[in-house]
Amino acid sequence: MTNRNYQLVIVGYGGMGSYHAKLLKENQSINVVGTYDILEEKRAASLADGYKAYESLSAVLSDDAVDFVLIATPNDVHKEIAIAALNAKKHVICEKPVTIYSEELIEIMQAAKLNDRKFIVHQNRRWDEDFLTIKKVYDEQIIGNVFHIESRVQGANGIPGDWRHLKAYGGGMLLDWGVHLLDQLLFMVDSKIESVYANLSYILGDEVDDGFQVCITFENGCTSLVEVGTTNFIQLPRWYVKGTSGTAVIQDWDLNGKIVTQNRGADVEAPKPIKAGQGLTKTMAPPSELAVSTSALPKIETVMESFYDNVISVVEGKAEPIVKNEEVLRVLQLMETIFKSAETNEVIKDFDNITSKINL
Ligand code: NAD
Repeated sequence: MTNRNYQLVIVGYGGMGSYHAKLLKENQSINVVGTYDILEEKRAASLADGYKAYESLSAVLSDDAVDFVLIATPNDVHKEIAIAALNAKKHVICEKPVTIYSEELIEIMQAAKLNDRKFIVHQNRRWDEDFLTIKKVYDEQIIGNVFHIESRVQGANGIPGDWRHLKAYGGGMLLDWGVHLLDQLLFMVDSKIESVYANLSYILGDEVDDGFQVCITFENGCTSLVEVGTTNFIQLPRWYVKGTSGTAVIQDWDLNGKIVTQNRGADVEAPKPIKAGQGLTKTMAPPSELAVSTSALPKIETVMESFYDNVISVVEGKAEPIVKNEEVLRVLQLMETIFKSAETNEVIKDFDNITSKINL
């Protein structure tokens, strides 16, 4: 028996479902009572791991002891499970990408409101240390006013798994990894979007994208390049960020990186021309020793509640969600705009003014 307050069932006991089960072992408020998966072998795995294996979704939803349903299935069925669970008066935590199309999220938000239950999306990479470090650089103007952000993840293993290769399941890298990087970017840059230009790659011959590049320009003047690749045998840095007085780089999730800022003293010598290739350059010469200072990346203090603690605070009416559904909706609409830009090879302007707003 447990004295934790909330009973949760995981629907979809694959990679991410079992990851949540492990994480929730540490949580003081939430108890994982069981799981439901369409596959017999996953139900057997659930029993072996010590969780009840429900035989159907309706068995989960008719169990009055269940407070939360956590959805960790492929993306195409998030909506139907979420709405059924909300109608059964359960709170719902849902994996990213919340749905394939923005209209589906609007339907879910309406069901949450109608049933007076919470619906929260697991945009867990808002808590990533590399992201929070860059957000601190941005917020505190450690390299001056940030005017350009490059955010990348690059692998060399192609599209993973089975359903991620198929459109009908919401496969492809824009929906899979793009949703994280775009969510981070929009969470950090508090400005309307001025324009979007994107291209998707289909190098591996799948019906879904195996990567993409998108340029997003914000109304506050900040430009950004977001890139996901699965055919990169040499990786570029995870973050490369330019500000009016310096540059920050984070190479990887181990937070290797540095900050280099400009010194503006009278004793700073002008750079000396260097031979470069078959020519001479002063513009591209390294700065003189006194012209720049190199420092370590700033340390972040944990300022946000953890994801699950925030979910509980929201349910108990003690806090606003850190991941707001309106923000998740804007990211979905941005991904739809990216698909459109890539298809038409056009720069799409005025994104925030043309995307539909909802009035619940
Ligand atoms: P997976 O294929 O490993 O697991 C999915 C499971 O859902 C499978 O066991 C499958 O049998 C089951 N399933 C399919 N349809 C179902 C249904 N209608 N009802 C019940 N069970 C069903 O996939 P995964 O990698 O665990 O991804 C699951 C979700 O988690 C996706 O939405 C994915 O985008 C997300 N995800 C999030 C992160 C993150 O960092 N937030 C990481 C990986 C995956």
